[in-house]
Amino acid sequence: MKNSIAERVAEVERRIRETAVCAQRSPNDITLIAVSKTWPTEMIMQAYKAGMRHFGENRPEELQQKRAEINHRLGEDNDIIWHYIAPLQSRQTHAIADNADVFHALDRLKIANRLSQRRQAQGLPSLPVLLQVNVSGEASKSGLNATQWEDNKQQQGEIQRLVETIASLPALHPIGVMTMGIWGAEHTILKPIFQRTKALGQWLQSQYPSLDFSHYSMGMTDDFELGITEGATHVRVGRAIFGERTYTR
Ligand SMILES: *Cc1c(COP(=O)(O)O)cnc(C)c1O
Repeated sequence: MKNSIAERVAEVERRIRETAVCAQRSPNDITLIAVSKTWPTEMIMQAYKAGMRHFGENRPEELQQKRAEINHRLGEDNDIIWHYIAPLQSRQTHAIADNADVFHALDRLKIANRLSQRRQAQGLPSLPVLLQVNVSGEASKSGLNATQWEDNKQQQGEIQRLVETIASLPALHPIGVMTMGIWGAEHTILKPIFQRTKALGQWLQSQYPSLDFSHYSMGMTDDFELGITEGATHVRVGRAIFGERTYTR
């Protein structure tokens, strides 16, 4: 692995461009999210200087603290977009409503309601959210159960109910779907997971033409190229940019 963050960012960006071109897609349609969880603000600043503007976090307190530190260094009106990429507990919704610019892991009505209420109460703009779907059944237990979404009417009904509720909330709006791969899985296993996630997003788009399901958050360090080949518009990359984390999460 190359040693400076700037070199690693450049390398990941090169791989994204190359994969996009092979897949006959525009590299501009793919957003690289630098997953900075566990790493200090100093390293976020290095990635920022290397051109990164999208950062991903998975702990509310950590996001809150880092956002405040970065605001202090770059000014309140800086151009960083903070993505919160992990499922939420209800007691964490205020911190995320206040500090996230995009939420990738919406899978429950209760969380949607609380996020919207808080955004509205704080006078913040509507929060863009991606539905986290679990099409494999093997990954973590998080995500909407969509293991048989193609032909299970009950699963379809539950997904539709969540979407319709989100659409009715004043301070939340859908922009797409997100999925987690399976850690360490072969690409032959991951590929249908990404394909079925994309197909689910397209189905939702056809069901709800007035809503936006055009974004797909699929792919991490070990599989972002596969994600792009299968249609990802957002890839969430931590280790390839910041190095191996000293503890896993
Ligand atoms: C940690 C994490 C990532 C990044 O994983 P890497 O393997 O470091 O690229 C992506 N998405 C989610 C939801 C994560 O928790």
